Amino acid sequence: MRVILCVCKGGRMEKIRSGVIVAELFQDEKKIYKLWSADLFECRQCRVKVISDFADRPMAQWPQTEEMAQILNIIAEAKRMGKYYEWPEHPSRR
Ligand SMILES: [Zn+2]
Repeated sequence: MRVILCVCKGGRMEKIRSGVIVAELFQDEKKIYKLWSADLFECRQCRVKVISDFADRPMAQWPQTEEMAQILNIIAEAKRMGKYYEWPEHPSRR
């Protein structure tokens, strides 16, 4: 059984949205390194939200720039739907 517990008062995280889009960015440039699909969870007690359950593989990955038009379309749609998040995680490519 897989459970995510919040540290507030043991509130259990429940999945409130599947298939959110997470853009993993280069730290210093804010450009996309990888584009992920994941799920959004919320604590039923304190309402804090977390993103987990990332797909095994990214939807797209730099420098596959031929996919950039498709990536931008995915991001634009996700923003429109209110399910776009950014993750400034990856070290610089320089
Ligand atoms: Zn909580």
